[in-house]
Amino acid sequence: MSSQPEHGPVRTAHADVLLASAGERGVLREFYGEQAADDLMLQADGAVEAREMAARIRPGSGPVLELAAGTGRLTFPFLELGFEVTALELSPALVDTLGKQVADAPADLRDRCTVVQGDMSAFALDRRFGSAIISYGSISLLDDADRPGLYASVRAHLEPGGKFLICMINTGRPESPERRQELAGRSGRRYVLHLMRYPAEQVQEITIYPADTTSDPFVVCTSRLKLLEAEQVVRELEQAGFDVLAPTPFSSAGEGGRQDALLLEASLRGDRP
Ligand code: SAM
Repeated sequence: MSSQPEHGPVRTAHADVLLASAGERGVLREFYGEQAADDLMLQADGAVEAREMAARIRPGSGPVLELAAGTGRLTFPFLELGFEVTALELSPALVDTLGKQVADAPADLRDRCTVVQGDMSAFALDRRFGSAIISYGSISLLDDADRPGLYASVRAHLEPGGKFLICMINTGRPESPERRQELAGRSGRRYVLHLMRYPAEQVQEITIYPADTTSDPFVVCTSRLKLLEAEQVVRELEQAGFDVLAPTPFSSAGEGGRQDALLLEASLRGDRP
């Protein structure tokens, strides 16, 4: 599973600067599971990503298994597209938040959604799926040692002809190593997202904190992930017995759409319909 919760919050260089100036008001927290994570993830729109993935799923191929579902950024667009979805998430707090969102949804959507707490690198559900999906960047939360467990678990849960779709960070895209952006959460609260890439170490650090620097407590949330290259995941999937199509950008990327993502499409070897 993701190593982060076991190791506690990461001290990013940016968090150190913020905490030093916040003094006793400053608190350092791991991002996922924090209120700020819920607030921001609930507000983020997954419709484009869900449509890009859904376009690669054969109609009538069965239910979708969504891994690392968070608060449902992709879950709800998939439900709205008519799929049945099982959403698996590691964090009990996020499972709770997603469960509440689903319970509040119209019956037509609610009745096609199951939320389960689980580790995407080692899970056993009592059913098979037409497809398994992982949202943008989420596979990077797994260590090298844990991804084989993900591939084996997905293999064991795909129907014949099923697809495994992974949305990855496009690490080959020229990008400034440091980025700062202000974002609003579902509550209307505003946050600053500071992103720092260390290309030599293939690491990305994220620091998120209230835009209002006088907040008390001043909660600084951090996360660090390994920047996985799509080619590496392709190799690993092939070793795990999948056939993989070449990673492709979103179809809308050329028309000014999102360019920071790559989609990987895999199916069990010898299993293409
Ligand atoms: N899919 C959601 C979205 O697109 O907004 C959430 C994405 S967020 C980048 C990554 C999610 O993966 C978090 O909700 C985190 O709790 C979850 N996660 C981390 N490690 C996991 C694991 N081993 N198994 C399942 N979920 C995990």
